[in-house]
Amino acid sequence: MAYSMKDQVVNLKKQATPFYHYDLALLDNTLDAINRAVENTCFKVHYAIKANANDEILERIRLKGLGIDCVSGNEVKKAIQSGFSPKNIAFAGVGKTDDEINYGLDQEIFTFNVESIAELHVINELAQVKGKIAGIAIRLNPNVNAKTHHYITTGLEENKFGINAWELPELFDVLPRLTNLNLKGIHFHIGSQINDLTVFKSLCNRVNDFQTQFKERGIILDHVNVGGGLGVNYSAPNEASIPNFESFFQVFKDFLKVQPNQEVHFELGRSVVAQCGSLISRVLYIKEGIKTNFAILDAGMTELIRPALYQSFHKIENLSQLGEANAKKYDVVGPICESSDCFGKAIDLPETKRGDLIAIRSAGAYGEVMSSFYNLREKAKAYYVS
Ligand SMILES: *Cc1c(COP(=O)(O)O)cnc(C)c1O
Repeated sequence: MAYSMKDQVVNLKKQATPFYHYDLALLDNTLDAINRAVENTCFKVHYAIKANANDEILERIRLKGLGIDCVSGNEVKKAIQSGFSPKNIAFAGVGKTDDEINYGLDQEIFTFNVESIAELHVINELAQVKGKIAGIAIRLNPNVNAKTHHYITTGLEENKFGINAWELPELFDVLPRLTNLNLKGIHFHIGSQINDLTVFKSLCNRVNDFQTQFKERGIILDHVNVGGGLGVNYSAPNEASIPNFESFFQVFKDFLKVQPNQEVHFELGRSVVAQCGSLISRVLYIKEGIKTNFAILDAGMTELIRPALYQSFHKIENLSQLGEANAKKYDVVGPICESSDCFGKAIDLPETKRGDLIAIRSAGAYGEVMSSFYNLREKAKAYYVS
């Protein structure tokens, strides 16, 4: 049976809006689907905590046995405070500060995913001072086009992420001299919201090439980390409430050449949490414009910035009006003093009135974590069903 928000929100009608609504049962089912898809394989999944660092969500993810992928020192801290073992924490990012690196060293995290040769030297020096050996993975730039929005494409040579293929000779030259580093693996992450699985096939081919080059130098890698990026269906959150993990992992089963005793790590963010969250808001005003009607909500880009930042689509539903009778087109906008504060243009909704409850769907990933206090707005609360 297809998922329905209308069943979910009945009990939340009295809550002050806007708020984030999380369906923890759907999250559990999503995590079970992931675990089923990687059962009896050498695949290990880390959750990219930057997608949503809400305590309740992290707790469910921890209970289902995933590790954590971080991109800041505070994310590492949050993961540890939430009960994740440092042994299951990877830390990526092009601009790690000395403080962040020192913190990771103190906690003895699994790996620093190192994005430049300069960073290798810095981590080595800081580890030396502490008399420690830092676990590292080298983030390589595979020059694969993720065919997604250019703001969330990260695996092209023109992007700032990772070490490029032409730097490999220098890398192989310096690595043996950096004696406070323990090279455990190589890491890739080509972008986000990727729905074309052939992109991951291209990634596998590039990873195989890189693996060969390491092998030729006698370097054994415990793991290959192929990152995250699996997209979700923003148009059909009810029908596609759980992404097709089976076919995603199958691409790697089919095309990645895994070495003996090697683990393959994944870092999924969006695909784990996007569909279990909605932003719930009330209509403050209906305003008739020259060409269009505006439905002005009490939620804005401060609660969900993706439409304003990436022109991304989120399904918008009126939970107070049943059926599609008297459907009209509305530009659904927020109250913030920016014309980009718009959740959708010319959206078909049943005739909508002041006070109606509106759901902006698939807001579980990159919603609450990207919220801001712009216009001195209050942080929206989160409510849960399970
Ligand atoms: C953002 C990010 C991820 C997660 O990406 P999703 O598209 O949310 O799956 C994984 N790894 C790294 C290094 C990232 O920066």
